[in-house]
Amino acid sequence: EQIANPAGLATDSLAYVESMVESNVRTQRPIFFRGKLDLATALEQMLSSEPSQVIDSVVSSKLRGRGGAGFSTGLKWRLCRDAWGDQKTVICNADEAEPGTFKDRVLLTRAPKQVFFGMVAAAYGIGASNGILYLRGEYYYLKDYLEAQLQQMREQGLLGRSIGGKAGFDFDIRIQMGAGAYICGEETALIESCEGKRGTPRLKPPYPIQKGYLGQPTSVNNVETFACVSHIMVEGPAWFRGFGTAESTGTRLLSVSGDCSKPGIYEVEWGTTVNQVLRMVGAYGAMAVQISGPSGDCVSAEKDGDRVLGYEDLSCNGAFTIFNKTRDLLWIVREHMQFFVDESCGICVPCRVGNVDLVHKVDLVRAGRACQQDLNEVVQWGTMVRKTSRCGLGGTSPKPILTTLERFPEVYQAKLVQPKGPLLPSFDLEAA
Ligand code: NAD
Ligand code: SF4
Repeated sequence: EQIANPAGLATDSLAYVESMVESNVRTQRPIFFRGKLDLATALEQMLSSEPSQVIDSVVSSKLRGRGGAGFSTGLKWRLCRDAWGDQKTVICNADEAEPGTFKDRVLLTRAPKQVFFGMVAAAYGIGASNGILYLRGEYYYLKDYLEAQLQQMREQGLLGRSIGGKAGFDFDIRIQMGAGAYICGEETALIESCEGKRGTPRLKPPYPIQKGYLGQPTSVNNVETFACVSHIMVEGPAWFRGFGTAESTGTRLLSVSGDCSKPGIYEVEWGTTVNQVLRMVGAYGAMAVQISGPSGDCVSAEKDGDRVLGYEDLSCNGAFTIFNKTRDLLWIVREHMQFFVDESCGICVPCRVGNVDLVHKVDLVRAGRACQQDLNEVVQWGTMVRKTSRCGLGGTSPKPILTTLERFPEVYQAKLVQPKGPLLPSFDLEAA
């Protein structure tokens, strides 16, 4: 649905787009918002290296995918480069739909050319000629503005034929609109959607780098990943490795929301602790933090305050949602589980049926009618959904219930009734 434009601003203007961004940008500006990147120089610098050296540079930076899974970006590109295919594609996944994430929207608003230049670098490294920005349906208001940015890049010789005067380096980007389905953020469903089909996840392998858009090798990367690459192209991999930790280099854009006095977008180095973020955003009396939205871990502010954001501990896709002690944790869990029920594409049974059953279990606990047997079944069924679902949605969907059961067992125990008979033996699916 198109958002109204009461000020009558041109829809390709930054003023129009910024008027649509209500979130505050509160950043220490280590990387993304330091100032404008000189893309002409960056391009010249990049084209002075061979494509394989560009990929080596990204490998050396130890950049890992910012969508959440943390796969090595350089390795993905190298695999895509080595895969057989005559028309490779680079896709930017801007279907930011995890509840609690809104940082890609800010990057696309404030620094869209950093993102697009990262795609150009990927295309050069991989040998791709086709680029797609898959834009979340709810971000439709950004479309004209982003089209105008792409046009400027074409006029500056940063997109199109023989980019930077390099014969044979042809690459352009088109914008593909999403239509509001969370599942289309899953890379293979996204590719189906780009091909004009219903967004249903494919089985992996084959991975998109082998068989992606139109059956050709395709690299799908997150908006923030591409923006990181632009800076790596300018400053070099060693500079990038100077931020963060050994396993998690660079910074993380956090979308902070919930019970705090300063919600907004923050750029922090990987390795920052949960407590440091809570203090920075003025969150006092926090009970729980949902890291990475419902598909991530719900941690306890009391027990997990010293844990660090990073792939070695709390991997994070950017969402940092704070709940204070006045909140009803079981209601939050129920709403998050219901979200997955609503967004499941329904093609595989564990996710389609299992999540509905898990919501029923939470309802039973909330009504004070569950016993220990129900909690045991929650763990068994949740593990089964996690392990046997086809895609990442089902693979992470039981997390709201499983992680709160682990970190806040007392909240569940307080609601239990005594069973009328003996408990059934439980089956350890994790061990199986
Ligand atoms: P995944 O681990 O299957 O894959 C991660 C990436 O690495 C993919 O691009 C995949 O193609 C590639 N890959 C993995 N193994 C490979 C191999 N052997 N060869 C070649 N390529 C390989 O994870 P996923 O299902 O793509 O994503 C799950 C993540 O998405 C979760 O961590 C979740 O937090 C996150 N997520 C993010 C959002 C958001 O809005 N940002 C929403 C939902 C989920
Ligand atoms: Fe669809 Fe869920 Fe199966 Fe993923 S896990 S393919 S969303 S039914």
